[in-house]
Amino acid sequence: MVRPMPPRSGPIVVSDALLVTQDAGRRVLRGDLRIEEGRFTHVGPRAPREGAEVLEGRPFAAVPGFINAHTHVAMAPLRGIADDRELSGFLETLFAVDARRSERDVEAGARAGIAEMLLSGTTSFLDLYYFEDSIARAVESLGIRGFLGWAVLDPELTTQKGRPIDNARGFIERWKGNARISPLVAPQGVYVCNSETWIAAKELAQSTGTLCHFHLSETRREVHEHQAKTGDRPVVWLDKIGFFGSRSVAAHAVWLTGQEIDLLARHHVGIAHCPSSNLKLASGGVAPVVELRSAGAVVGLGTDSVASNNSLSMLREMHIAGLVQKNQRWDASVLSAQELLDLATVGGAQILGRSDLGTLEVGQRADFSLVRLDHPTLVPARPEAIVSHLAYSAWEEAIDSVFVDGVPVVRERALVRADWSAIRSEAEAAADALWSARPS
Ligand SMILES: [Zn+2]
Repeated sequence: MVRPMPPRSGPIVVSDALLVTQDAGRRVLRGDLRIEEGRFTHVGPRAPREGAEVLEGRPFAAVPGFINAHTHVAMAPLRGIADDRELSGFLETLFAVDARRSERDVEAGARAGIAEMLLSGTTSFLDLYYFEDSIARAVESLGIRGFLGWAVLDPELTTQKGRPIDNARGFIERWKGNARISPLVAPQGVYVCNSETWIAAKELAQSTGTLCHFHLSETRREVHEHQAKTGDRPVVWLDKIGFFGSRSVAAHAVWLTGQEIDLLARHHVGIAHCPSSNLKLASGGVAPVVELRSAGAVVGLGTDSVASNNSLSMLREMHIAGLVQKNQRWDASVLSAQELLDLATVGGAQILGRSDLGTLEVGQRADFSLVRLDHPTLVPARPEAIVSHLAYSAWEEAIDSVFVDGVPVVRERALVRADWSAIRSEAEAAADALWSARPS
């Protein structure tokens, strides 16, 4: 059933909910939220009701929307297409199928991926792909917030029509200034980008005031091959060629030396930690999240694509991120539940350069979800345990409603602005064509 979209969202009050504020004191308190014109105007006891639609918040925790700091959302129809193989074999299949994609099936895939994210409480995502105009249209139609990176690589290696860097520039020019869409440039990685491509991407990011997003040091093989080719490990090499300096976010950052960790922190490179993808593709190592954070780097959390995860749920990603760090270090105290929720909210906001996202505070953009406290995975629904439940136990089906800019995009576990059965049948049709193109 399609739920009609209110023509213009007026003030909303969520009354008497358990507010997981993620403010500086990380306060959890019972109280009200008032939202006007896309922002919180009241967070705390008894908000004014004048002119507002009042939503009964007592059965819910109100939680900042999750920020997925690295994904390829349009790959939804490719879930399961290249399981159980390591990165090089995985990429071989993916590149062969990717080369066959059309703008139409990218849009269908993006709609399915965005639906999955909204229904699991994600309100912002950072994407790396091509045909990003199709993904931008999917973002607009479903009401999520998209940070969309047009993938660039060396012209002789791409299947894109035209030069990737020119395509990225055109994409940024077309979408810059959009309220929900932040276009950006995204060099794919050192294995397909030479120094000219990296510098062109940096200059494009600087001249347009946009972010630069890229894959970095995901596998040992990538690091060793780059070292054999250039004499330097990827981070050292990027520093030498003068790439750092624009606002940037690196995905993965698994295989780093102490020197590289310091370089990333010094250049304020945000890190998108993607533990599920690293584990499933058997990257072997575990990203040095603790060392990165203590060196001063800001870390967020990403799911990567459904071809390598195979979920877009940030609830699952927090859970995995915590377990893998604790186990690898023989130390149950590292990456606490609170720190995991920080990665998924304020950490993501910081690496995107968006201090107006990630918390429930007056003046912030009203991106949040209402999580059912009566769900079995949230028992006992005690205020002092809610952060632990979010990080370690909550299921996606506990997410009841989701708001972006104060506008409802999910209510009672249904998409507000689109019909899931239509999204699903378009994604299945896209999958039919793509799966038949996979190499045997
Ligand atoms: Zn990726």
